[in-house]
Amino acid sequence: MQVYKVGGAVRDRLLGLPVTDVDRVVVGATTEEMIAKGFRPVGADFPVFLHPKTGEEYALARTERKSGRGYGGFTFYASPEVTLEEDLIRRDLTINAMAEDDQLNLTDPYHGQRDLEARILRHVSPAFAEDPLRVLRVARFAARYAGLGFTVADETMDLMRQLSESGELQALTAERSWKEISRALLEDHPQVFIQVLRDCGALKELIPEVDALFGVPQPETHHPEIDTGLHTLSVLEQSALHRQPLTVRWACLLHDLGKGLTPEDEWPRHIAHEHTGLKLIKAVNERFKVPKDCQELALLVGQYHTHGHRALELKASTLLELLQSFDIYRRPQRFEEFIAACEMDARGRKGLEQRSYPQADYLRGAAKAAREVAVQPLLEQGFKGPELGEALKRERLKALKAYKEAATA
Ligand code: ATP
Ligand code: MG
Repeated sequence: MQVYKVGGAVRDRLLGLPVTDVDRVVVGATTEEMIAKGFRPVGADFPVFLHPKTGEEYALARTERKSGRGYGGFTFYASPEVTLEEDLIRRDLTINAMAEDDQLNLTDPYHGQRDLEARILRHVSPAFAEDPLRVLRVARFAARYAGLGFTVADETMDLMRQLSESGELQALTAERSWKEISRALLEDHPQVFIQVLRDCGALKELIPEVDALFGVPQPETHHPEIDTGLHTLSVLEQSALHRQPLTVRWACLLHDLGKGLTPEDEWPRHIAHEHTGLKLIKAVNERFKVPKDCQELALLVGQYHTHGHRALELKASTLLELLQSFDIYRRPQRFEEFIAACEMDARGRKGLEQRSYPQADYLRGAAKAAREVAVQPLLEQGFKGPELGEALKRERLKALKAYKEAATA
């Protein structure tokens, strides 16, 4: 049997990038032979094994055929007769369809190296269209390698467009989609992921609520970029430039969904978009079974981001309500992430990327002032139960009034 490194490990070594996870393919072996050598079988769907010592993945060379709708609709065929070339042709992109042996001899039947040099993401064969997840994968690789100058080949975009129009994207499970979306959002250029999905018509299928923001104007005085879709892309771009976590990036993507619902005769104003957007954010969260922390932050940022921007003008009582809504006493991290998302929103405006955002420190200071109100003296005064809660609120309001006066004096 022969063993080859394949996929990302080969691609990233040739790009001169660090290689983290290594996938290997085994040609000329049977499941029984692998087990006899001590490999542990792990693949539920495919014959995949873990190396007894290193724990790295070894997959038997296989071919695949589409036999139905969605991802369940695949039959695979693994046997010692399946060649390396046959295994490589079922892969998504030419740059992912190269293999190398221990001596670094490259097997590259589909010209991945040529595309790597030309900075092109190109599908390997028409079988690309058999798995709609590949639309998301290509967009994700575009987001990852945009900084190196990679773009999607025209003929691959055509296939992605056909796949999007066919309705096949609807057959993807929430889990597979979210895995790609979340990884893509954490890449260096997540806005490219959304842009590529939009360009091939997949965004309209997957997250129509975001697609609907393109072509919706905002007031030029606040938003020199005018278009809400372009603004959303810039906010996402800022979130990556500022190395924000997934929660913040997800909230950035969804924060303005309400603007897609504004009746045209109200444009470019978007009165109460913070509230109209909430049911859309909820729907998107549920569609992809998004992790709870991402769901929560997206909803809170959607509802309160304009409060964040107006922080210095808010009455002390409104400021207190904001802090209470975030439960800043038990969830300090979440409030920090809210502040970060607001700042990314403010910076995601054309020409205003470098403008300082004093609201951030002001909100942090307000949270600190509210947290520093001590409970002990109130207990000593005999407050209990709901009355204690009321007294605590009064004291916090007092503290916030003092804070506001001092900070804006
Ligand atoms: P990463 O650096 O993100 O791990 P990768 O290219 O190694 O990138 P994996 O998801 O680990 O991506 O997959 C390994 C290889 O398997 C890919 O390079 C590709 O050749 C192939 N592959 C994975 N998923 C698919 C798919 N849905 N369709 C076609 N080929 C795929
Ligand atoms: Mg990999």
